[in-house]
Amino acid sequence: MKGMAIVACQQVADVEAELRRLEAALAETRRDIAALRDDVASKLNASEASIFDAHLLVLEDVALIDDVSKEVRRTGFNVEFCFQEVAQRYIEIFEKMEDDFLRERAADIRDVTGRVLDHLLGSQPERVGRAARAHVVAARDLTPSDTAGLHDGGVLAFVTQEGGRTSHSAIMARALDVPAVVGVKRLMETVEEGDVILVDGETGLVIVNPTAETIEGYRDKEQAIRTRRDRALAEVALPDLTTDGVAFSLLANIGDPAEMEDALAYCARGVGLYRTENLYLRLDGWPDEQVQHEEYVEAVKAAKGRPVTFRTLDLGGDKRLGDLADEANPFMGYRAVRLCLERPDVFRPQLRAILRAAAHGPVQVMFPMISGVEELRRAKAVFRDVEAELAREGVRPAEPVRLGAMIEIPSAAVVADELAAEADFFSVGTNDLVQYLLAVDRGNQRVASLYDPCHPAVVRTLMAVFAAAQRRGIPAAVCGELGGDPLWAPLLIGLGVHELSMTPAALPEARFVLRHSSSAELRALAAAVVASADAGRTRALLQEFASARLKLR
Ligand code: PEP
Ligand code: MG
Repeated sequence: MKGMAIVACQQVADVEAELRRLEAALAETRRDIAALRDDVASKLNASEASIFDAHLLVLEDVALIDDVSKEVRRTGFNVEFCFQEVAQRYIEIFEKMEDDFLRERAADIRDVTGRVLDHLLGSQPERVGRAARAHVVAARDLTPSDTAGLHDGGVLAFVTQEGGRTSHSAIMARALDVPAVVGVKRLMETVEEGDVILVDGETGLVIVNPTAETIEGYRDKEQAIRTRRDRALAEVALPDLTTDGVAFSLLANIGDPAEMEDALAYCARGVGLYRTENLYLRLDGWPDEQVQHEEYVEAVKAAKGRPVTFRTLDLGGDKRLGDLADEANPFMGYRAVRLCLERPDVFRPQLRAILRAAAHGPVQVMFPMISGVEELRRAKAVFRDVEAELAREGVRPAEPVRLGAMIEIPSAAVVADELAAEADFFSVGTNDLVQYLLAVDRGNQRVASLYDPCHPAVVRTLMAVFAAAQRRGIPAAVCGELGGDPLWAPLLIGLGVHELSMTPAALPEARFVLRHSSSAELRALAAAVVASADAGRTRALLQEFASARLKLR
């Protein structure tokens, strides 16, 4: 409803108390309107004031009030939600009437019911008050720094018109553990402030102004998801072992020391990806060595002896700071290690900050957007130089810092053998690898349906990269979103990777699916996918495998 406050739907414990609130709100609205009428009558004239008599009549409409009371009793939802539902129904009925006079009454009803709703929202007890302040964010697009800034705002869900599943805003939403649907066509033409928006983050469905019945139906679904999650959560502290005792390892992707709390709560074995650029985005600027160091030390200490893998700065692409020049193709432009190798004034302080933090616990470093061996060698050389500089200052890491290459550019995948000879480990960034392999911008809604990790080229590339790591005897991990997807985790482990890193909230279900599989089943799944070489068939195989373990509905 235009101009109305956002109304959240809530189940209430005391229906009678809700109805008393309705009575009180009606009485207050009556007083307001009568006062307005008297005021206008004294300043203008009686005929001008008579409009308010029509408004008062709306409040006497027994049918409307009765419908609201019935709706509250039937659904057990909060009164402001039911009131909005019923009022909207009435407005629509009047708007469709043939008779001009009756059609104009729609505006009266809108006006008066808006006033009642204001009183209801103003009189909310703390329980509902919290929910009313909580809201769904609907936007054309959210930059990663917008999303980072929404941490404490009572955000129930995100919906954006632009963006893809692996755009950084979507990744951040996942870190916040709130439902998010991105790439919703014509969203901004469809929603208005005050709409009730139902967001189904599982299927990507967004319903604007759902009926009470739809909401009720979704409560069942929500309950089923909760049951599934609880089942996974009950086993979250169990070891990372398949049913036949083969080890795998699940780690967390974080970008803020505060996220370590969730990572540990979900029993991450360490941090497989620390997105260091998030600090830059939060500050909207270039932090110096000391500021970075303090954050890294906090993260290392919070990890309590578990390894933390710091990815060096990955600015550029969709993660932009104001003073980075605009580019025609930012994802293929001045980004990540390319920027760092050109800017020793940025790269060296960051490496110093990380290495100083490594004195407090086990740390690994990996370089993003490596395209070939030369680039990796150059990045490693800067690291070694900084390491020697710090050693001269008497600063040494607690344990040797291993250096990894992110495999997220097709050229790196093609020369994976040579890179494996230079790197201590691989971490596959599937978010970028899929976009570059398929030439599909990961943040572009118009081509989102082409961003298909089930494409056989993706599966074959992953297999080749894992095999190269195996041949050279270095560990390989996956830290892109696929790693935390319960559909994909079994395939990745089946294809030969041992470590998956994911947003903390994804850990319980990924662990559950893998712990309820044998290594032979995982290998058989991978073999079937590789043999099929068909995206649709791959999707069906993954779905079937995960459903059998999670009992997906
Ligand atoms: C990736 O590309 O898969 C990845 C993990 O890095 P980011 O999403 O930050 O680009
Ligand atoms: Mg990447």
